[in-house]
This record gives sequence, C-alpha cells and structure tokens, in this order.
Amino acid sequence: MMLLKVPTQIRTVFTCQLCGHQAPVDYHDPAPIDEREPVPGKDRHAREQAINDANAKLEKQAQKALRIVRCPACGRLDGKAVRKALLQASLPVVALAPGLFMGGVIGTALLAPALLKTAPRLPVMVGALLVLVLSPLVLLHRYRQLRKEATRSAHFLPPAPPA
Ligand SMILES: [Zn+2]
Repeated sequence: MMLLKVPTQIRTVFTCQLCGHQAPVDYHDPAPIDEREPVPGKDRHAREQAINDANAKLEKQAQKALRIVRCPACGRLDGKAVRKALLQASLPVVALAPGLFMGGVIGTALLAPALLKTAPRLPVMVGALLVLVLSPLVLLHRYRQLRKEATRSAHFLPPAPPA
C-alpha cells in the first residue's frame, strides 16, 4: 500500500458541438481531493495504473463540464447539453420537494390555526405553492452553480501555432 497524489488538472480539447471549433483547454478539478489516495501494491505498474485511472476520470469529468461552457468562438451554448445539465440539477429538487410540501402544510397549520376553520385546504395550498415557487429557484441556483463551476474550471489556452 502506498499513497499517491492524484492529478487535479488535465489538458484536454474543447470541441463546440455547434460550430465545430476546437480549442486546447486546461481543466482543473473544481473539488480536488487534497489527501493522497491509497494505492494497493507498491510497484511502478500499480502507480502508473492509478495515475492513468485518475486521468481518465478527470478527462471524463472535464468533457462533461466543457459541454456547458460557452464556446469561445461562436459564443453559444449547446442546448442539448444544457437540458441534460438542467435535468441533473433537478434531482436535488425532486428530493427536496416532499419536505418543502410537508413543511408548508405543517407550518401553515401551526402558524395560522384560526384560518384553518374558514379555509381547511389552506395548508395544502401553501405547501403546493412553496414547491411551485421554490423548486424552480433551487433548480436555477443549482444550474448556475454547475455552469459557474464548469466555466471556472476551464482555462482556454491560446491556439497552437499551425504546424
Ligand atoms: Zn462554437
């Protein structure tokens, strides 16, 4: 067993799905693990294998992030990739919705017990309203976070001089 500093940066190529523009880019892991990773075995082969695995993982992560980075040539975003990112961002909202709803129902019942006699459906309506209003906000926030993270992690390099 040995400890290995895993790579947190990778040089890769950005390819615009819309205009075909390609640019070299340095991608930094936005949440690098500072600790050294334990690697089973201690020969050179195991070490190289571990570094290769880490690089492959980082490359995959980079390509995923680069899809929601604005193209430096045409300035556009790939709509399909954006929808995918939005879908991903919506997962925490789905997990959050029942809690929001219940919170709204219970909160209203507790805060406005007098109103319940005249409007018994009020807590349910408040719960539903909370989900309707807050879900898009959470989604938007998460999506912005994803895009900001991707943009911050990608550093475009000057194009290589033509060979
Ligand atoms: Zn482009």
